[in-house]
Amino acid sequence: MSNDQSAISPSPRENAVITGAASGIGAAVARRFRERGANVFLLDRDMPSLHRSFGNADDSKAKLFEADVSDTAQIKDIFAEIERCHGGVDSVVHCAGVARLGTVIEMDEATFDFVLKVNLKGTFLLAKHAMPSLLARKGSFTAIASDAGTQGASGYAAYCASKHGVVGLVKSLALDHGPSGVRCNAICPGFVETPMLEQLFGDNPTDRAFYEKSVPLGRFARPEDVAELAAFISSPAGAYLNGAIVALDGGSTAGYFSTAVLSR
Ligand code: NAP
Repeated sequence: MSNDQSAISPSPRENAVITGAASGIGAAVARRFRERGANVFLLDRDMPSLHRSFGNADDSKAKLFEADVSDTAQIKDIFAEIERCHGGVDSVVHCAGVARLGTVIEMDEATFDFVLKVNLKGTFLLAKHAMPSLLARKGSFTAIASDAGTQGASGYAAYCASKHGVVGLVKSLALDHGPSGVRCNAICPGFVETPMLEQLFGDNPTDRAFYEKSVPLGRFARPEDVAELAAFISSPAGAYLNGAIVALDGGSTAGYFSTAVLSR
């Protein structure tokens, strides 16, 4: 399941688990945590991409795991292996997720179940199997939710439901485990320039331009914007952040916004 385990030895260095690390936000988070000297344990179901980005044999601070975040046995085994071989986990940044378009009329039940299973149950499994280690090391759990976790999103019934679930779960984690020293938070990005966004807009530049113009800061986020916030939250600088649901959307969810009003 993983590459050579002998390369990372137990050390006072931060051990960080990052899911969805083969692409987009997860890959940027992985790069950011490596920059700050963490041992990174990178999970994704897309192993070829994970290897292309992080499979350098000389890189002794990155371990790659092929895993589906909604698979109980795989997630349990990975945390057991990290505990056994590397002493435990200090930070989790859970980025893996899927988006599927559709209203409840358009979407079939299997697609709804799939989105909920990956996005919500996946977050539950990550939190469940990371928590013993996070409790022992007073660590940090950060989930990448979405602005669709705090407001509705037309045409995204299942995605929106799953991300509201993630936000609720993270708030409960913060209450349940904050008293024992584990901080649990969620980041709610608006649109971020990743393959997921490319998939959403496809070859429709008109839609893209419309949504980009509706962001008060005038641009979509870059994966690095999200990575920087995730790094901050899990660092000592974020030591008083717990149960925070942080909007990272250029002001999109701050209220009604219209460039037409500004240009009057
Ligand atoms: P992305 O570029 O599609 O990357 C997501 C990665 O997670 C992909 O490598 C994907 O593999 C992997 N993944 C998906 N399901 C998985 C599973 N069951 N187990 C393991 N890995 C899995 O997406 P992104 O834009 O970086 O999104 C990261 C997170 O941010 C998601 O939770 C997303 O909902 C959230 N988010 C994104 C945006 C945005 O505009 N991009 C906005 C708000 C929130 P595959 O390629 O094989 O699916």
